[in-house]
This record gives sequence, C-alpha cells and structure tokens, in this order.
Amino acid sequence: MVDRVYNFSPGPATLPVEVLEQASKDVVNFKETGIGLIEMSHRSKEFMAVADETEALLRELMEIPDNYKVLFLQGGASSQFFMIPMNLLGDGKKATYLNTGTWSKKAIKEAKLFGDIDVAFSSEETSFNRVPAVDEYNVADDSEFLYFVSNNTIYGTQFPGFPNTDKMLVSDMSSDILSRKIDVTKFGLIFAGAQKNMGPAGVTVVIIREDLLERTPENTPTMLCYKTHADKGSMFNTPPCFAIYAVGEVLKWLKKQGGVAKMEEINKEKAGLLYQAIDSTDFYRGHAETASRSLMNVTFNLPTPELETEFIAKAAEIGLNGLKGHRSIGGCRASIYNAFPREGVVKLVEFMKAFEASHTD
Ligand SMILES: *Cc1c(COP(=O)(O)O)cnc(C)c1O
Repeated sequence: MVDRVYNFSPGPATLPVEVLEQASKDVVNFKETGIGLIEMSHRSKEFMAVADETEALLRELMEIPDNYKVLFLQGGASSQFFMIPMNLLGDGKKATYLNTGTWSKKAIKEAKLFGDIDVAFSSEETSFNRVPAVDEYNVADDSEFLYFVSNNTIYGTQFPGFPNTDKMLVSDMSSDILSRKIDVTKFGLIFAGAQKNMGPAGVTVVIIREDLLERTPENTPTMLCYKTHADKGSMFNTPPCFAIYAVGEVLKWLKKQGGVAKMEEINKEKAGLLYQAIDSTDFYRGHAETASRSLMNVTFNLPTPELETEFIAKAAEIGLNGLKGHRSIGGCRASIYNAFPREGVVKLVEFMKAFEASHTD
C-alpha cells in the first residue's frame, strides 16, 4: 500500500485512518454476519442498529434537543437549497438570506423559485472575503427565517459567532458541522453534506425542529417533504447505508477525541498555526479579512499566479496534496477539517517558510 499523504482536499476530504481501516473490514464482513455492510438490508436489525447509533451519537455530540428530528437524506447539500424554501416558504412567504459566497448564491437562486427572498447582505464585490458583522444587516419583521452559510468553504470565511436575531436561523453547516459548539435551539434547521467534515459523500444530515414539519404545502412531492423522512426515521426508501455507517464511525472517533468542545480547541490551535505563518510575512496574503477567517479552510495567495502553481506542485512532491484553491478565486487553500492531522499543518508551515526563503533574496 502507498503511504498516505497529507490531503488538504476541500471535500470529499480526509477521514480518520482508523475509520477507513474499520470500514474496509466491515464492507466485507459486518460483525461476523458473513455479509458485507453494503450488501445488507437496510431493514435488517444490524443496519437499523447502525442508523440508530449514528443518530444517537450525533444527538449526544451536538446536544440536539428532543423536539428536533435528525434526517439522513440524499441529493447532496445542494438539494437542501430548494427543499428548504419548498417546505418552509409555502405560498411565497418571505425569508432573509446573507450572501457570503458560492453556496449562499446558489441557495438564494433556488429560494427565489418559491419565496420572496430578501438578500440583506452581500460581500460579492470584494470576492466574498468576509462575513457581515452582527449589526450590518436587518432581518425584515415578516421574514420566516434568516439563512446563512456558517463556513464558506471556497473563500475561507466563517461566521465567528451566530447572527444576533430573534428570528429562527437556518444554516448550511456543510463544512463546519461538529467543528465547534453551537446552540441548536437558535436554529429551525441545520443541514450538512457529510463529505466535508463528517464522512463520505452520499448522505446529507438535516436537523429540523419538529413543528416545521407541518408547514409543507400539500402539493409537494412525497420524497421532497421533510415529514416523509421524519415519520419513517429516514427509512421511507433505501437510505445511503454506507454513508450513514461511515458517519457513525467518524462520530465514534470524534467522541474518543473528546467531543465537539475539544475539537473546537484543536481546530483553533491548528488553524492558528497557519494564520500565524501567513501573517508573519508579506510573501503570503490571506484572502479572508482577519475577523472572518475560517478555521476549516485557509485561503491564501502568493505574490504571483506562477509562484502559486510552483508552490502547489512542490508541496505535492513532499506529500502535501490538494492545496490548489477553488477555480473561482484561484490561489491556495488548505482545508483542515476535524480529521486533518496537526502534523500535516506543521509540515505545511515548514514548507511555506522554506519555499519563501528559496524565492526571496
Ligand atoms: C460542498 C458544499 C455544498 C455542496 O454540497 P453537495 O453535497 O455537493 O451538494 C454546499 N454548501 C457548502 C457550504 C459546501 O461546502
């Protein structure tokens, strides 16, 4: 087997190696049943136990109150862009959105198909280099909810705290769920594609307050009603069995690390190493404004695009992979989610110093 490299990929992203090793065994023969995990009926008692445990662990780690449902859906985080307004905005009700990057822009486009959408803030003119301060926008009184993307994966910005409003919050936490402690009770709905910070692609977790299940208009297709999945414990149809299992294994790993509060502490320290390296020189420039910096995706530029290309290639030669920034902003991006090892960050910082030294006189 090839040695594993440090994989800075934004998603699908690095998973704990012990999870991958366990999964590779369970896929062939799950718990001595003689049947591989992905060959097993989703209604078997073995798989039902897996799904139950995954949900229970998520509830425990995120402290999800009992009046919230946890759903395991397909269609990616992107399907939530339309499912949310379809279910919650009924006959053209209003919602407020904060436009902080590609993922919010896509969500706004879909929401406009169903509701009256008020975009209360946008940082598009400055290449989405920041998120708003709490007093920088207004939420209309007749808005049903305030929608925001907690961590902007592409631009490397993150809400340092959550919007200070009495309105129900709805948030895309695809790239920072479980990375820090949050108060779920402020939210009507939280969703996250698993493939950034929680597991493999294939499952999207939706955490929804129970009373919202009743808002869906009657002419909504069955598969697109949250209630359909809530009523059947995400087993209305065949769920993404492998992805749910793997999320469960990641959650077990996370619990062993000390839980979400511990992760938050580790993430702050880890990202701090990189930001310190960026701030200590003019050779590297961070894309995000300091107050909006993400602990998950660290975006930066070098003096020229040519140097960036060389930097990314040379890094890959020493096992630092996937540092190319998203095509929409270029530059470099180090995605350092929960499962990304600290040693990889240290190695990147060393490489940054050495690269700079060999390119300046
Ligand atoms: C990756 C990502 C998405 C899209 O996820 P898919 O599962 O590919 O649809 C949405 N929002 C955020 C914040 C993301 O990082």
